[in-house]
Amino acid sequence: MLIGEEGRILDSTHSIDRGSSAPAIVETACLLIEQIIARRNLSTTSLQGIGIAFGGPVDAERGITIRSHRTNGFEQFPLASLIEERFGVRTVLENDARAAALGEFTFGAGRGSRNMVYLHLGSGVGGGIIVDGRLHHGVSMTSGELGHMVVTTNGPRCSCGKPGHLEAYASEGAIVERMRLQLAATSPETKANWLAQHGVTVKRIFDAYETDASAKAVVDETIQVIGLAIANLVTALNPDAVILGGHVTEAAMGLPGMVRAKIRQYGFDAAARHVAVASAQLGADSGVIGAAVLASRAS
Ligand SMILES: [Zn+2]
Repeated sequence: MLIGEEGRILDSTHSIDRGSSAPAIVETACLLIEQIIARRNLSTTSLQGIGIAFGGPVDAERGITIRSHRTNGFEQFPLASLIEERFGVRTVLENDARAAALGEFTFGAGRGSRNMVYLHLGSGVGGGIIVDGRLHHGVSMTSGELGHMVVTTNGPRCSCGKPGHLEAYASEGAIVERMRLQLAATSPETKANWLAQHGVTVKRIFDAYETDASAKAVVDETIQVIGLAIANLVTALNPDAVILGGHVTEAAMGLPGMVRAKIRQYGFDAAARHVAVASAQLGADSGVIGAAVLASRAS
């Protein structure tokens, strides 16, 4: 994507190539960058920087990917320097959820806040924490891994292997899976009704909150664990904004209001009273826009 002033998307292109090796993906990324530069009649010297939002853990300071859960070859991989050498343009690397937090903070729903928590609820659960206007990384770059906060000590196993983490309850797949378990215990008619048409989705589950006891149970548990996790973060960090993003937030009608109620119920009063809770505004582009913000600052 080509991002201009004020986070505006000036041009974009994409390629879906999940099975490739790390070098092949880098080559594809470079070709896409060259494509945009050529068709916009730009030169590399007119670019302020190149920002990469990577879907996996990274060492942002060194511009190195730690690993990818989808593709081999990204272990300790010098992604930023490879792109930087190719184009001769300062290149920065950030984890995609952390970059999304910065994108929302700078140009999206978190605009005007100073301390912000971003929770991404999608196929995985991640996030980013902004403290005094800056993305917080922590000593080993894991600050913002909100999906791995403990919400119960004996719950389902998380993708990281530990029990009771938020992601094991609040990812898209986890919500749908719990609904399927509920349906296994319901009448054949109810089950058939759910499995017919478009199948079990997060949107259908939340839409059925008022009319279906199974859906209500799944939604209540989901909101409870998200609410506990966020209430603790609000108490610990005293942010002025909590921004909820990702497919689950888009599909789950009324999610910010429900989470806000839990923060008020469980969070430390003096912190809970001062926090705004809102849905993200930049959608799937937030990570790229956040990476562009970092790139513009680095130059
Ligand atoms: Zn985990």
